[in-house]
Amino acid sequence: MKEEIGVPPDHPRAESLRVREMLVMHYRLGIVIPQGLIAHGRGEAFDYLLGEKTIKPTLTAIRAAGVAMLLARHPVISMNGNSTALSAKEVVELAKLTGSKIEVNLFYRFFEREMAIKKALINAGAKEVLGIVEKSSARIPELRSERRKVDARGIYSADVVLVPLEDGDRTEALRRMGKSVIAIDLNPLSRTARHASITIVDNIVRAIPLLIKEVQRLRLKSKRELWRIIKRFDNEKNLRECNRFAAKRLMEITERNELYPDALGRSSGI
Ligand code: ATP
Ligand code: MG
Repeated sequence: MKEEIGVPPDHPRAESLRVREMLVMHYRLGIVIPQGLIAHGRGEAFDYLLGEKTIKPTLTAIRAAGVAMLLARHPVISMNGNSTALSAKEVVELAKLTGSKIEVNLFYRFFEREMAIKKALINAGAKEVLGIVEKSSARIPELRSERRKVDARGIYSADVVLVPLEDGDRTEALRRMGKSVIAIDLNPLSRTARHASITIVDNIVRAIPLLIKEVQRLRLKSKRELWRIIKRFDNEKNLRECNRFAAKRLMEITERNELYPDALGRSSGI
């Protein structure tokens, strides 16, 4: 079957297939690289365990993330190939709502790819895109990958950085620089998830639209109230709740004997 055929809307896994199609399309545009497709597969596996829905503890993390972005003096959203493929338009909207800058930051960095990502973000409505090679003269200390190259006006001087689909090394390095890091990562066990200040355990395609809605609500609140929300947030506790949710769900499915199709061929409850 050719990928161009498209996804039948009544397919039981239509949304998941639609997301894959978007990644393949952006692979052809030179925005996503093969390694990005593999990374998405790791994310999908965790999404499967969570039931492909935004879970309750994640809503708490999204709220805290919205507050952190609104209280930030200099918030920056860091974009890579996969996040651009899946959420360019929504990220531009979130950046406008929170006064955030958008910066391209890539593990596999080369000029044509940077330019393709910049173009996609501009087409999605971004006025300015930081981090394009010649302007990325600042460095994140202790980091050896291409991801160490950052824009002095962007990530380097940011106080809050939103890093969808991040690599663990850089999350740790950004924290050591004293920055607050908001991660979106479906794997609650990853180094990124464990080292971020606020971890949103959710698929980026669900998380960013929810974050936008939350920011719209939070904007109406007083600074005092926003500080109160952020002070109450405990990332370690939140991650434990995400793990507990996945473990409990798997146990329940196992105990109900719904893991495998039954004698009538009805499929599992996952
Ligand atoms: P870490 O470097 O943090 O230890 P890792 O090496 O396991 O993590 P990477 O390849 O560095 O993983 O980053 C990919 C991460 O992005 C994975 O943890 C994966 O779960 C997550 N991911 C992939 N696709 C999505 C998506 N659509 N939404 C949210 N998270 C995703
Ligand atoms: Mg990694």
